[in-house]
Amino acid sequence: NSLTKTFHSLRPPVNLPREDTPLSVTEYAFSLRANLPWPDSVAFINPLTAQRLFYSDFIQKTNSLAAYLQRVIKLSKNDVAFVLSPNSVQVPILYFSLLSLGVVVSPANPVSTEYEISRLVQLSKPVIAFATSSTVHKLPKLKHQTILIDSPEFYSVMMNSKHQLDPVRVSQSDLAAILYSSGTTGQVKGVMLTHRNLTAQVAISCSFWQQRESPAVMLYTMPYFHIFGFFYCLRSVALSEIVVVMERFDMKKMLKAVEEFRVTHTALTPPVVVAMSKGGLTEGYDLSSLEGVLCGAAPLGKDVIAAFSSRFPKLELVQGYGLTESAGSIFRTVGPEECKHWGSAGRISGGIDSKIVDPETGEALPPLRVGELWLRGPTIMKVYFKLQLGDHISSGAGYIGDTGATSETLLKDGWMRTGDLCYIGEDGFLFVVDRLKELIKYKGYQVAPVELEQLLLSHPDIADAAVIPYPDEEAGQVPMAFVVRQPQSSLNQAQIMDFVAKQVAPYKKIRRVAFVNSIPKSPSGKILRKNLRKVAVQLGLHL
Ligand code: AMP
Repeated sequence: NSLTKTFHSLRPPVNLPREDTPLSVTEYAFSLRANLPWPDSVAFINPLTAQRLFYSDFIQKTNSLAAYLQRVIKLSKNDVAFVLSPNSVQVPILYFSLLSLGVVVSPANPVSTEYEISRLVQLSKPVIAFATSSTVHKLPKLKHQTILIDSPEFYSVMMNSKHQLDPVRVSQSDLAAILYSSGTTGQVKGVMLTHRNLTAQVAISCSFWQQRESPAVMLYTMPYFHIFGFFYCLRSVALSEIVVVMERFDMKKMLKAVEEFRVTHTALTPPVVVAMSKGGLTEGYDLSSLEGVLCGAAPLGKDVIAAFSSRFPKLELVQGYGLTESAGSIFRTVGPEECKHWGSAGRISGGIDSKIVDPETGEALPPLRVGELWLRGPTIMKVYFKLQLGDHISSGAGYIGDTGATSETLLKDGWMRTGDLCYIGEDGFLFVVDRLKELIKYKGYQVAPVELEQLLLSHPDIADAAVIPYPDEEAGQVPMAFVVRQPQSSLNQAQIMDFVAKQVAPYKKIRRVAFVNSIPKSPSGKILRKNLRKVAVQLGLHL
């Protein structure tokens, strides 16, 4: 029966605060860090200026800003605040302030166009926006005037707002954030996350924490508007980590920062890990302080991991899997033994259930069978409370203002469909095969682009690659590869097709190749297949 095919976590249950305790994720993160052995330490470093902000200052600034927003701007619980800013130290201060007031944080990619922003604003209906001098011109008029977080006025408010904060009672079921899902497939959607979702995610992440003598020094390349960066911002404060904040990703600046600030841990997107595994780039930098690298958000091939591990044998390469809808990573490898399961995204976190379901029949499948991954648990976007209270999925759950997408994604008994094709081994390790919607159908056979992309990346002359379906009268679709060659490589199309053909079943062969200068990627490192189609059209191909 389907119950025996539910995979419960093999990890110990995570200690969560009681659901009915009023608690904002700000209070929760601050309370966790207060229990750590060092009372104060550096919280954030700006690598460009080497300026450091201590936790005592960070907390004082967060409270001062909250008092100003509450007393002067009159923001209150459940108001939505739109945030449009590149990464900077002000962003975490802003997030923690807003969350402490119960104001819903809704951050978007600062490179979004005015048109895209108007769509997001229609969805989340913010009353105020926080921007920078470089992004403010793209914002529509809202109830309150936009606040510039890189202005001297903002700085002085953070220093001392001269107002007394009136404590706000935030329930864990209150909405905390609306994050826009990558939109690599389908329409952009606003994912509603509650304080409970984020608190549970912080609790899970902290449960893997190893006792240290001094704080970890963290550098992540993810933007704060994506769940990966958003969540790391919360988690780092809860663990009192020293965070090196990079405004935008730049490989050389990142390596220099690792050397200069003796970074111990980094969280990287797969393209960065691929680039580091190819060598050359990292030479001349002292990376000896690094202890661990976490990689998630998109698949990482075994060959890339092999190359990375032989280049950096002492580094633990942690893999994780998660979605905006699960408030971040919920599968991960923990410790050196689990990290040896190359190609797996790890085991599920304590307190979360999963099952693999046949997408055609809806039947739950046993270990090792490929199907759609379904998830259930406290980190899954706003539904959990509602269902626990016996409520039905309503416009207040899932994706904001999109009951259609919500009811397709959130199912009865609290399950959420991920849209990812996966299998789970007997020992609970997850393997992601591909996105359901991105599969190529060659004469009815399913071909996973990811598998071919990983093969292509294992070729020493290939710097980057992406595979999409190409329409074909006879076969329906054939796999087509976009390839970025290494500098000076003279690899040709026939050699690439031959390289792949030797290693895969005939139906998976790559039947078309185009050379490009770069592969379009989202900020979290996912291949933007829709943009590739545009590239193909520019190349004169008819899709
Ligand atoms: P996002 O909401 O932007 O975090 O995207 C979530 C999607 O990223 C998932 O549904 C997966 O398709 C993909 N993803 C995340 N982590 C991994 C991973 N470790 N391996 C493969 N795909 C992943």
